[in-house]
Amino acid sequence: MNDRRVRLKVGVATARAERPRNEDSVWTQDGAFLVADGMGGHDRGEVASRTAIDVLSELAVGAPTLDDARAVVREAHAAVRALPKGTGRRPGTTATGVVLTEHDDVPCWLVVNVGDSRTYRMAGAVLEQVTHDHSEVAELVAAGVIPAEDAARHPRRNVVTRALGGWSQDVEPDVWLLPVSPGDRMLVCSDGLTDPLSDARIEAELRAHDDPQEAADRLVAAALAAGGRDNVTVVVVDAALTPGRAR
Ligand code: MG
Repeated sequence: MNDRRVRLKVGVATARAERPRNEDSVWTQDGAFLVADGMGGHDRGEVASRTAIDVLSELAVGAPTLDDARAVVREAHAAVRALPKGTGRRPGTTATGVVLTEHDDVPCWLVVNVGDSRTYRMAGAVLEQVTHDHSEVAELVAAGVIPAEDAARHPRRNVVTRALGGWSQDVEPDVWLLPVSPGDRMLVCSDGLTDPLSDARIEAELRAHDDPQEAADRLVAAALAAGGRDNVTVVVVDAALTPGRAR
């Protein structure tokens, strides 16, 4: 949605890296900022992520609620499940992102997630991951089976436990509603960013570059320089609250 009280400035960058094609898809219009990381044989991953993003972009209309978000994610899941299977794996995709909405007349971020792409919020120059990864490794860390510091190098770190499409009949998205604070910087990205770069490194780049486009470009460059081989997609969204008229 376009909330007149909030001014958004957006940067977006993506790279194929060492993969034959870029299977990430991205949406950055009308107050919705979404990233999907597709998987499947041949061109199926690209089609899956694009299909999911097309459906999820419905959240850019009006002032979506948490229930709207859950419903649209289920619709996206059904659309990806309906794609032809081809010869390889069933096409599937992660999806995450943030949508500007309002709740009780307060501007809010609506955050959605399925899979291991991530949405972060930087407030007061401190970066915090809003979403929880739906991955085997994240579950092992949460259960105390492996220490968090081993997660980044774990061989099964890319195995997702929830996805749109894929093997599962249903999908349970995570959704959050957070009031917009002046100066909020939201980061939406695929695992091509967070695999090679630590949160501390990502935070440092975000602090170093005021302009969101420059920040997005520098993050993608840093992921590639750190040896990132996977498709990498980064969206940086800055929010400024305009002084509202007294109600
Ligand atoms: Mg990926």
